Amino acid sequence: MSKFWGSLVKGLEPYVPGEQPKQSFKLKLNTNENPFGPSPKVLEAIQNQLNQDLRLYPDPESDELRLELASYFNVERDMVFVGNGSDEILAFIFQAFFQDQKVLFPDITYSFYPVYSSLFSVDYQLIPLNDHYEIDLMDYEDKNSHVIFPNPNAPTGMPLSLSKIENFVKNNPHRLIVVDEAYVDFGTESSIKLINKYDNIIITQSFSKSRSLAGLRIGCAFANSKLIEGLLRVKNSFNSYPIDRLAQTAAMHAIKDQEYFEKTRQSIIRAREYLINELDDLNFKTLKSGANFIFTSHSQKNALDLFQQLRKESVLVRHFKNPSRISNYLRITIGTDEQMKDLVSIIKKLI
Ligand SMILES: *Cc1c(COP(=O)(O)O)cnc(C)c1O
Repeated sequence: MSKFWGSLVKGLEPYVPGEQPKQSFKLKLNTNENPFGPSPKVLEAIQNQLNQDLRLYPDPESDELRLELASYFNVERDMVFVGNGSDEILAFIFQAFFQDQKVLFPDITYSFYPVYSSLFSVDYQLIPLNDHYEIDLMDYEDKNSHVIFPNPNAPTGMPLSLSKIENFVKNNPHRLIVVDEAYVDFGTESSIKLINKYDNIIITQSFSKSRSLAGLRIGCAFANSKLIEGLLRVKNSFNSYPIDRLAQTAAMHAIKDQEYFEKTRQSIIRAREYLINELDDLNFKTLKSGANFIFTSHSQKNALDLFQQLRKESVLVRHFKNPSRISNYLRITIGTDEQMKDLVSIIKKLI
């Protein structure tokens, strides 16, 4: 601690991202990255952009990219926002709409939400997942609060249906509902179309997982244009150029290459179902997943022991000590077919 730290900084408990190890692992399945690289067309577009134009600032509004996203999702450009990763957009949302108010989110969820709450003086309350590890929106009845949750949820992977979300949004017109769709492309229904009907919902998505661009930091959000204007006000009071030239180009071409996107995400969905079936046979219980990871627990073998044994075999997965309700689960990122076969044979050896 330095004597110059202010009281806000002293009180912060920063987010700790999943380990990015120095040593290389045979199977790195701990941070939900995409096992396939970005589309070859994206790499080519970045290479074409490597020129003298880098001396120029990028378009501050990322208009071309916003238009591309608007036409892809069939909404208006002024209903689209882009940011430096969806994490940055989530931070802007907390700052723009939740400051000095109350927000509810699940007790088991993305651990950045409590961090942003303390950074932006947001009062929050954790709502326990139900006995089946699901988000039950009936438990979010406090009328004086806003709501944020991932769909599918993380680290459970469990999806929530569009009809349940729509009902909740419709019945709570004075509360803002934020749906964090970082993993939605792996088999969960998106809520984007609700933004045409309701002015109290924001959807965030990410290029990090299904578009394989975690290293470039690009996220997007969709909402009624008045909400987007609120986000633009925060963004333009903080950083005029959050998305650099290479990232804008890459994101545009990632959206355009629909074929590569479909091929890679379908492959991950298939590999996920393969892994779940194999683990079933080995007496694991795996929660239903609409994501590029699974959350699984073995009937006899302790999760922390298994985590450590896998590590010795050069396999890195994720284990959460807290809360205790999930301490006997492992979160495993889905890789290629071959990686999943290797994983299954290593687990067979250990069980
Ligand atoms: C990965 C993740 C994000 C952040 O994505 P970036 O676009 O890489 O910032 C947001 N929410 C959840 C639930 C995530 O898992």
